[in-house]
Amino acid sequence: MTDIVVVGSLNVDVVVPLHELPAPGQTVLGAADHRRAGGGKGANQAVAAARLGRRVAMVGAVGIDADGDWLLGLIAAEGVATEAVLRAPRPTGQAIVLVTADGDSTIAVSSGANMWLAAEHLGPLRDLLGSARAVLLQQEVDAAVVAEAVRLAEGLVVLNPAPARPVDPATLARVDVLVPNRGELAALAGAPPTDAGADALAAMARSLGTRGPVVVTLGGDGALVVTTDRQWLIPAERVDAVDATGAGDTFCAALADALLDGAAIDEAARWASRAAAVTVTRPGAMEAAPRRVEVPTSA
Ligand code: ATP
Repeated sequence: MTDIVVVGSLNVDVVVPLHELPAPGQTVLGAADHRRAGGGKGANQAVAAARLGRRVAMVGAVGIDADGDWLLGLIAAEGVATEAVLRAPRPTGQAIVLVTADGDSTIAVSSGANMWLAAEHLGPLRDLLGSARAVLLQQEVDAAVVAEAVRLAEGLVVLNPAPARPVDPATLARVDVLVPNRGELAALAGAPPTDAGADALAAMARSLGTRGPVVVTLGGDGALVVTTDRQWLIPAERVDAVDATGAGDTFCAALADALLDGAAIDEAARWASRAAAVTVTRPGAMEAAPRRVEVPTSA
């Protein structure tokens, strides 16, 4: 049986190192060779869960092109089942990532095949979605796909509402664990971007009407776990941060992983925080996700 089905995006990330980011209309020559990496929040979370030892299946779409072949080979080599990744008559999603040595970045995404995927494509995947112990979703695919996957899921439903976008109330009400960052939480609550403290964030989280906990990721400030009557601030691990890209993806995968083991939500968030901290110590996103043995078992 599949432990975790991830429904989401698969992208080729083209990472271009620059001395400075270009202003509009400006051309900047690269500081070093570009590199290609697997990406997309869906694929990143699928690989992170597989590296933690979970049986993972990916639901999504790539193009009928060399990028699609490459990406499927990459995640299959990580142990992710790719039979439910459809081939679309659209190009494989691409993210062009411009980065400076200081860690500033500008990202342009062409969604391509990811936005071709439609709710009706999920019908034939009903058994896969219904039998998975957990379904893990993000928002780099069409909102109707997210809604339909949540409707077909019978196990634990974990939604990482990234990037920020409204979620329909029926979907939110079926989500067992919601994992927004600060900006995504504010957007869902209809509030302006906020640097509010824990109590205000918790009030916002409770106003959303999910049936389970909300875990708000706060970058280097850790994570806030909110249930109807309790809240825990989980401090971030102290690490030498190299590149925080992908920290949220590892966090979501590790949270689902721990919940499948029966961990309480605060314990699951502590495990996720330790796993995400490993990702932060390495460059890249997908390739920075830790294997289970690399995650410290306690703080
Ligand atoms: P992304 O979209 O880049 O994956 P995100 O906004 O979804 O990021 P963050 O809130 O930045 O996610 O990070 C997720 C988790 O990773 C945090 O809750 C924290 O546990 C861990 N983390 C992030 N940055 C650091 C850091 N500098 N040091 C230690 N842990 C970190």
